[in-house]
Amino acid sequence: MSAEFLDIARKTGGYRPDRLSDFGEVEMHLPISDIRVQASRCMGCGVPFCHGYGCPLANDIPGFNLAVKEGRLADAYRILSATSPFPEFTSRVCPATCEASCCSGLLSEAVSIRQIEYAIIENAFTNGIVERDKPKFRTGRRVAVIGSGPSGLAAADCLNKLGHEVVVFEKNSSLGGLLRYGIPDFKLSKSVIERRIDVMGAQGVFFEPGVEIGADMSAQYLRRKFDAICLCIGSETPRDLPVDGRAHEGVHFALDFLSSQNRANSGEAAEVKISAKGKRVLIIGGGDTGSDCLGTALRQGAKEVLQVEIMPEPPAKRSVSTPWPEWPYMLRTSSSHLEGGKRMWGVSVKKILGRGGAVKGVEAALLDWQSDASGRPLKPVERENSLFKIEADLILLAMGFTGVRRNGLVEELGLELVPRGMVASNESCATNLDGVFACGDCVSGPSLVSRAIAAGKRAASNVDCRLKKLL
Ligand SMILES: Cc1cc2nc3c(=O)[nH]c(=O)nc-3n(C[C@H](O)[C@H](O)[C@H](O)COP(=O)(O)OP(=O)(O)OC[C@H]3O[C@@H](n4cnc5c(N)ncnc54)[C@H](O)[C@@H]3O)c2cc1C
Repeated sequence: MSAEFLDIARKTGGYRPDRLSDFGEVEMHLPISDIRVQASRCMGCGVPFCHGYGCPLANDIPGFNLAVKEGRLADAYRILSATSPFPEFTSRVCPATCEASCCSGLLSEAVSIRQIEYAIIENAFTNGIVERDKPKFRTGRRVAVIGSGPSGLAAADCLNKLGHEVVVFEKNSSLGGLLRYGIPDFKLSKSVIERRIDVMGAQGVFFEPGVEIGADMSAQYLRRKFDAICLCIGSETPRDLPVDGRAHEGVHFALDFLSSQNRANSGEAAEVKISAKGKRVLIIGGGDTGSDCLGTALRQGAKEVLQVEIMPEPPAKRSVSTPWPEWPYMLRTSSSHLEGGKRMWGVSVKKILGRGGAVKGVEAALLDWQSDASGRPLKPVERENSLFKIEADLILLAMGFTGVRRNGLVEELGLELVPRGMVASNESCATNLDGVFACGDCVSGPSLVSRAIAAGKRAASNVDCRLKKLL
């Protein structure tokens, strides 16, 4: 076992200092010489929790770290791509669940695995070692993948490589799902999605953007024309805030705000439909979507931005309720939080205030949270006489999602949903309909890109099992 993890400090590339003036990716990256040194911090532990526990894709992290340390970047790519079809996405947007369970993190700081992954995949693209070949053998079976988010792309990639003919249907005019329309360009440049779509197209996957199944094309028709269907339709229903004043102009769902900026950046829309320019912005919801709204509002020239969260402020360091190697319950500060704006915790919005139909702010109350013995918040109690006002001209609702959209495909197919609004499916990813499988956020509820990719791979392997029985 090497001791570099103790002798060498963890290092990352940091963020661009001038980043607020544009929508370019904010992360900077270390030169490969530094990345090799960082990879040498990996202990190559006997039981690598990063690999078996932390990473939903079960990436062989110690394996590629060793290859990078020794300067064998092409080998590192082969090790990484054996389990991860799109490292260029996860190396940009993954919260790095692997790093939270890195053994180095117990005694020192975790290995900077995500930055190492970035170096491997970007080196592979630069040097032309990302394969573009079509499968050598075709089964004659056809699969329709509905939805082109990370789960749909992963399912399509696997099924195509297994020799099936795959068509990906996407209702939006561009591909990528939340990678394209949710995640801001400053975290993930859309050229990265286009580069991968280009590779998948060369490998034989067909894409049909701008086609909504259940509206533009019947789902039953697809069932007749394809041997299997894989639903990768995301969890698109936003959680609303049903309080007095909700109908005032200037209250929007976070995703409408974010997608309007992404559409303008790409040229898909001529201008931003919902702008924070010169406005006092209130973001309701303290999670990642809210943080993306914050970064976007600051770039648009908001006058001030406040992000409020109903839960209490998490502890600065890993809470004892989530010991290593678990994903830690703790305060998270994104690149956007470092750029400006304010945050408040334990805030319950009671009423939206307006004048002449336009939003002017909210009335809110402070909550005190009762916690369990480990510090986990359990129950809120509204503090007496704590009502206060927050002034705002633009309110963004970033409170999560409550399941699949219910106005088309779901009804047409008679698809069974669970009470939480997600698609009901069994351990083989099969739905209540013969030959129809489901995966990603539409099954799990809002999750992570890495988990959606892993789910897409799992669904593909179950679809393949079914098709093999047909062969
Ligand atoms: C604002 C935001 C930021 C996020 N940031 C991160 C992050 O930084 N890191 C991270 O790991 N995760 C992040 N996530 C979560 C991550 O994006 C999702 O977990 C992931 O995209 C889910 O993938 P999916 O393929 O299941 O669904 P989606 O990405 O939602 O894709 C579903 C696709 O299906 C299409 N579709 C739906 N119905 C139909 C139909 N009837 N016909 C045709 N097409 C249809 C939709 O248009 C969409 O393109 C973020 C989520 C949001 C909302």
